[in-house]
Amino acid sequence: MKILVFNSGSSSLKFQLFEMPENKVIIKGLAERIGEKQGKFKIGDWEVNKPLPTHKEALELLTDYLLDSDNQIIKDKKEIFAIGHRVVHGGKGFMQPTLVNAEVKDKIKELFSLAPLHNPANLIGIETAEQIFPKAKQVAIFDTAFHHTIPTVNNKYAIPQKFYDEGIQKYGFHGISHQYVSREAIRKLGKENAKIITLHLGNGASATAVVNGKSFDTSMGFGPMNGLVMGTRSGDIDQSIIFYLLDKMGYSSEDVQLILNKKSGMMALAGSNDLRDIEQRASQGDATAILALDMYANVIKKYIGSYAAQMGGLDALVFTAGIGENSDVIRRLVTKDMSFFGISIDVEKNSCPKDYQGDISGNTNTKVWVIPTNEELEIAVQSYELLH
Ligand code: ADP
Repeated sequence: MKILVFNSGSSSLKFQLFEMPENKVIIKGLAERIGEKQGKFKIGDWEVNKPLPTHKEALELLTDYLLDSDNQIIKDKKEIFAIGHRVVHGGKGFMQPTLVNAEVKDKIKELFSLAPLHNPANLIGIETAEQIFPKAKQVAIFDTAFHHTIPTVNNKYAIPQKFYDEGIQKYGFHGISHQYVSREAIRKLGKENAKIITLHLGNGASATAVVNGKSFDTSMGFGPMNGLVMGTRSGDIDQSIIFYLLDKMGYSSEDVQLILNKKSGMMALAGSNDLRDIEQRASQGDATAILALDMYANVIKKYIGSYAAQMGGLDALVFTAGIGENSDVIRRLVTKDMSFFGISIDVEKNSCPKDYQGDISGNTNTKVWVIPTNEELEIAVQSYELLH
């Protein structure tokens, strides 16, 4: 069964075609700069540079490629059985992979206010896919869904009840990634009822506590700015700063959004959101870069401590996404001086985790793993499980 996976942004579309249930990737590619003067469409080495006014033109190029007899992928569009779409916000209602119909699309629209940057783009992806692949089943896989198991003790804020009743609560994000890597960790441990912390450290970053395969707490909240220090987002700050900026310093609410979302985090601390640059400067003794890395790692340590305390133990700590998978420096700083806590890493394994199947654990009890995330595969698997 052929399943396409779409991750649509407002000006981009990433896609992969899988043969399921073999989990085999047939092609993967992306369209960028949709709606701009010059667009770019890429599958493997094949690249087209031309205007892509909307997502539709990108999908038409994809269809041409799939049907091209030289590529021998499909003979008829009907062979694409399903399309799995990443949808960032599922609110309180969407807890499972969901077959898309008119009602589901209306509900995704209702959630625009909770995810104004993502849900509209995700819906464009769905509606365009419906036009171009009318016979395929469309499935929505929500980034928030994995976190619906977070108990009230962790998803409720200590603010008046009426706000909770109106849906102001912790939703959490990166759920597809946390679910994928925590499942892999459970498989490696061979223990269903494990206590795990997964660290998704990309441009956006979040930590999740997973108990019995279910999300128990996560560091992002009602929106994606909370928690860890990120590429350009502040992570946790004292709320009074927001009112000070608004009321005393004359910034508008849009300004504050922009500051906390795009101008904070590592960008603010070290002038870049590319961790490779910051590591390079730190290695040359740049004090600003060293402090930024220490702050980044320190917040993660705080979350590890609080989650292990809440769960009453920790079987495995998992690093994933761009930074988690590639930065031995961050992994070393995060796990430094934590052997009292059962966490340590092996320096040699940490510098080359692939050689050790991602196991970088030292000689303490908690397993420490580097597990590459694969959100596209997770979407394909969940779509397949829903439909077959
Ligand atoms: P996104 O959230 O955009 O998907 P990624 O998961 O691709 O982000 O992660 C991007 C981050 O990963 C950037 O900060 C980048 O500098 C960092 N990164 C990528 N490769 C390396 C590397 N080899 N060493 C350190 N950091 C890396």
